[in-house]
Amino acid sequence: MLPTISKALEMKLVELRKTLHRHPELSGKEFQTASRMKKFLWEIPEVQIVENIGGNGMIALFDSGKPGPSIMLRCDMDALPIEETNEFLHKSVNDGVAHKCGHDGHMAIIAGVAAMLGANPIASGKVALLFQPEEENGRGAERVLQHSFFETFSPDLVFALHNLPGFEENTVISREGCFASASRGMIIKLFGSTSHAAHPEQGRSPVNVVSGLLTGLTELPNLHSNFDDYCLVTIIHARIGERAFGTTPDEAVVMATLRSYLDSDMAKLTRNAEQLVQELCRQYKIEFEWEYTEVYPATLNESRANDLIKNAARLAGCEFVEIAEPFKWSEDFGRFTQKYPGAVFGMGVGVEHAGLHHNDYDFNDKIIPSAIAVFLNIIKLVNGFKK
Ligand SMILES: [Zn+2]
Ligand SMILES: [Zn+2]
Repeated sequence: MLPTISKALEMKLVELRKTLHRHPELSGKEFQTASRMKKFLWEIPEVQIVENIGGNGMIALFDSGKPGPSIMLRCDMDALPIEETNEFLHKSVNDGVAHKCGHDGHMAIIAGVAAMLGANPIASGKVALLFQPEEENGRGAERVLQHSFFETFSPDLVFALHNLPGFEENTVISREGCFASASRGMIIKLFGSTSHAAHPEQGRSPVNVVSGLLTGLTELPNLHSNFDDYCLVTIIHARIGERAFGTTPDEAVVMATLRSYLDSDMAKLTRNAEQLVQELCRQYKIEFEWEYTEVYPATLNESRANDLIKNAARLAGCEFVEIAEPFKWSEDFGRFTQKYPGAVFGMGVGVEHAGLHHNDYDFNDKIIPSAIAVFLNIIKLVNGFKK
């Protein structure tokens, strides 16, 4: 039998979630968040806590003392630079910062799993619960993986959950293969030389390169037939010269986000984008440099892990939705699935629920018990419980 989540624990977790929501912290600055989580975890019997994992992260480790599979469940800790427009009691007290992706809820769920594992020891192997910082900037998972903890702990399976507006409350959403896309921000800097605006022929303006990039980058996925699956380029920012009507511009910058379902396609798309920059700059005699930011690999759901999620959802009484297409957004959990077999799944928070990163979004606490139940069923199927 699966241990049941008491009403008292549920209320405690909702309170924790609202406290986390009231005190959101940006990526890399999750100091108070970490100490709040540590305080909660310290009350749990039989847990080993490893602090300062990849910055403000921590791991709560449950060891059965018996051989068996090791699994890791991960939640994310950071909030976003978004001004909250909601007026509820747990409204963010930090100006311009708010939990608009529901990471406060993800932490409450994993804290709930920790409380349940403290009261109901696992029968075999180990379960590591990871509280991961810096998800929103794509750096957290990579930093976490550099910690010495992973030199001795090599999970057989890794799992994570993300809440999903647009889906019925408590439905579990997953698919085998790519779940969330690979993406990266490309920053292209262009350097020419100014001239009098009456004599543009005397200068080297980057205008033509910018205009070639705005259309050319966007068209890359259609122009090249060498992609195996979906790709997308979105222009997100461009700037040319200064507001000086007597002078032609010398510098410009173009920023775009590259996306693909497959990491192999991301490599091709990146090469195609770089070639386009080189060709246009050669044509118009413009110097250039590029850099990448917020690089996320694709999150790949391994078939066994996906099956476990499906079975755990059924056992938890949640409807399971196998989506046909991957999500176009990215999740830095892809760093873990690059290294270990595993899967990330979504849990619906309501069809009409405000979208992720919207300024009126708030996590739906009603999914906390079912999300914990799905995770506990995964643990039951993999590690088992002593009683
Ligand atoms: Zn987010
Ligand atoms: Zn998120």
